[in-house]
Amino acid sequence: MSDGGYTIVIGLEVHVQLKTRTKLFCRCSTRFGAPPNTQTCPVCIGLPGSLPVMNREAFRLALKTAVALNCDIPSFTKWDRKNYYYPDLPKGYQISQYDLPLSRYGHLWIRDAKGQFPSRRVRILRAHLEEDAGKSMHDEIAGRADSRIDLNRAGTPLLEVVSQPDLRSPGEAKAYLTELKLLLAYLDVSDCNMQEGSLRVDANVNLHVDTAEGQVATPIVEIKNVNSFRAVERAMAFEARRQYDVWRETGQALGQVPKQTRGWDDQMQVTRAQRHKEESSDYRYFPDPDLVPVVVPTEWIEEARAGLGELPAELRARLESDYQLDPYDADVLVNQGRELVDYFERTARACPDPKRVSNWIQQDVLRTLNEQGIPIGQFPVQPDGLAELLSAVRRGDVDTSRAKEVFQRMVDARQTVRQAMDGLGISPVDADALVRLCRELVTENPGVVADVRGGKPQAIGALVGQARKRNPNANPARVREICLQLIDQS
Ligand code: ZN
Ligand code: MN
Repeated sequence: MSDGGYTIVIGLEVHVQLKTRTKLFCRCSTRFGAPPNTQTCPVCIGLPGSLPVMNREAFRLALKTAVALNCDIPSFTKWDRKNYYYPDLPKGYQISQYDLPLSRYGHLWIRDAKGQFPSRRVRILRAHLEEDAGKSMHDEIAGRADSRIDLNRAGTPLLEVVSQPDLRSPGEAKAYLTELKLLLAYLDVSDCNMQEGSLRVDANVNLHVDTAEGQVATPIVEIKNVNSFRAVERAMAFEARRQYDVWRETGQALGQVPKQTRGWDDQMQVTRAQRHKEESSDYRYFPDPDLVPVVVPTEWIEEARAGLGELPAELRARLESDYQLDPYDADVLVNQGRELVDYFERTARACPDPKRVSNWIQQDVLRTLNEQGIPIGQFPVQPDGLAELLSAVRRGDVDTSRAKEVFQRMVDARQTVRQAMDGLGISPVDADALVRLCRELVTENPGVVADVRGGKPQAIGALVGQARKRNPNANPARVREICLQLIDQS
């Protein structure tokens, strides 16, 4: 590689809020949006003498996710206190897992169906459970220039998923997050709502720069506060550029400066220095004496494995092999979620033309769902209705553009294919009648016939147009075919 060329090296830490009714160590509700400090108790606000008790459902969801991420599950795991002071952490420590997390050494395959990068196996270093802190609200109450704390979120269960630094571009970072989020949705362990903070991303990024003396690594920077996947992509691209410029100017390499934490400013599209990053020794981790360690029976792991269902990667592979869909189409369908894939499969079983079914779902069905803001479960056209319509298109009973009108009527007026076609005056044209019509047209248009014979087959379009005027139900593709045949034979 040339001098000054570089590789971007990215590792991501994702905090996933698990979908439990209650908090990790107490029975307070985790519901989002309640008035501040109405979902708290002595345990989650850290009053002396209160005792935490582990939420088994949170552990079950964490285990299920870890198994889906191909992690090793040790039979013994424990809780540790991560000590630091911050106003939104009244106990003065966060209950987390340090040296014996509930899972480690997994992986997640990511791929790019558009071919922008090759498939990559991203190693997962660990996934552990911990509690969330409260929320500081700075000037968020109109007219007041003060800061307040809401502890409703304190103690909410988070699964922290830490990847190895295996990602090599901003696009790959985004693809990893997209795949992880999709997996969590299929597992039904989190609602993954980024606006409500159910999925929070910190990124570690640095560069490996090629020099005449070999590769040098720039200092690792942790970027906080990246709250959308697009922001992650942009923050990574910005940070790579910034680190490269610093390296050019100063030649600064790893080991010469301490790790740094920077925050992403989404408005200005820049990262800004925040503080020196703590080393883990700064947190003075030690085992939490209030909580018993968890001994994980093999039945829990087996149960988690049995409950996984078909996961996105397997599902894509199956759609490609069972229905001969190309990777891009399989990707679009699977990314929409299990319900849409079910809709596709039911339609494709009733109308064995999966490519056509997939196209219609991607274009017309998804467009309608977006316009109406409804999930596929509430879509007025059932799979057998769509299959019936597409079968009619396949038979040539109705052409594609008129079929779109039929579809629209099925959606708007909740009609069957039959009703919608009758309502639009569409009826399949009898084969003999169509041949008669074409014969007339060929006889009446010697100019067009001469053009076609003279090597301009596109001239046939004029006949197709005339046919449609005489009988709107005439299928353009069939008319074209029959007319060309007649000209050929005459
Ligand atoms: Zn509580
Ligand atoms: Mn954490």
